[in-house]
Amino acid sequence: MRISELLRGTKPFLSLEFFPPKDKLQWPDFFKAVEKLRALHPLFVSVTYGAMGSTRANTLEIVSRLKNDFGLETMAHLTCIGASREGLSSFLDELVGAGVDNVLALRGDLPQEGSPRDIARMDFQCASDLVAYIRGHYPSLGIGVAAYPEGHPEAPSQKGDLSFLKRKLETGADFAITQLFFDNDHYWEFMRRAREIGVEKPVIPGILPILNLGNVQKVISLSNSQISAPLRERLRKAMESGGPAAVKVLGIRHAAEQAQGLIDGGAPGVHLYTLNKADACLEIARKLQIPT
Ligand SMILES: Cc1cc2nc3c(=O)[nH]c(=O)nc-3n(C[C@H](O)[C@H](O)[C@H](O)COP(=O)(O)OP(=O)(O)OC[C@H]3O[C@@H](n4cnc5c(N)ncnc54)[C@H](O)[C@@H]3O)c2cc1C
Repeated sequence: MRISELLRGTKPFLSLEFFPPKDKLQWPDFFKAVEKLRALHPLFVSVTYGAMGSTRANTLEIVSRLKNDFGLETMAHLTCIGASREGLSSFLDELVGAGVDNVLALRGDLPQEGSPRDIARMDFQCASDLVAYIRGHYPSLGIGVAAYPEGHPEAPSQKGDLSFLKRKLETGADFAITQLFFDNDHYWEFMRRAREIGVEKPVIPGILPILNLGNVQKVISLSNSQISAPLRERLRKAMESGGPAAVKVLGIRHAAEQAQGLIDGGAPGVHLYTLNKADACLEIARKLQIPT
């Protein structure tokens, strides 16, 4: 079923993002984590796509198994930069063949090598090109896109970035999911500006639990997301007093408080970046007042 149809129903909801483990030896543990998280009755689950299609086959296989073996509503992420029309349509054909009804249409990060001229020659240059392609050739598929409450790192301005989000939604995307953020004010301010320019479609906030300091530093360096000075100070103190275990406890508490604040403030639901960690996500959900 298209996620846009589900979004008209029960609110608030949780949805979950997984990544395909590279090593197939890890798949049994991964599916055990999925099985545990199924207890949360997520509205949908999504499966990431490695840069330049590096996880193409694994994304396809996992998203298809989550749909057909686990009975979960699913969405495959798909990036278009550097991809050919033929490559993308063979992925989309396989997706449709597996019964998957939703795609998160992304540009993907720009390749390290390659000049702007090389990029200009590519079949797809931004996510709205991919949205247009999917809408034109696969009209029955549901389409999500990415949104950036703190602005995309390459965007010349937040205003310009927001107008590109509007374009993606007007080109045919049904909804957006945000980049992670650690302070809900970024989401509320973003939504205020989005509504002001006429964005009416749902924008689902994405929450990343801080489970260890190393990982979060890496993620922050790749996105535009900031950790506020007070949260940074709380993390520093937690590390000093209780080491990684105390950081994890604080991270889980912060994610739960963020999610509760978003739900209480009227967000349609929360998309949890699970990092494939079932127990931490179950603990976050246990702290939430949300029907599961
Ligand atoms: C929820 C979510 C899930 C993600 N999942 C994955 C994943 O599975 N795999 C992966 O590799 N990456 C993933 N990403 C990261 C994403 O691929 C990168 O952030 C990438 O750099 C931008 O992708 P986009 O789809 O937002 O691009 P776009 O919407 O195309 O935007 C990219 C940049 O170009 C600008 N822009 C947009 N349209 C135009 C235009 N018409 N003309 C000029 N400039 C324009 C934007 O302002 C922005 O700065 C995800 C991001 C989010 C938020």
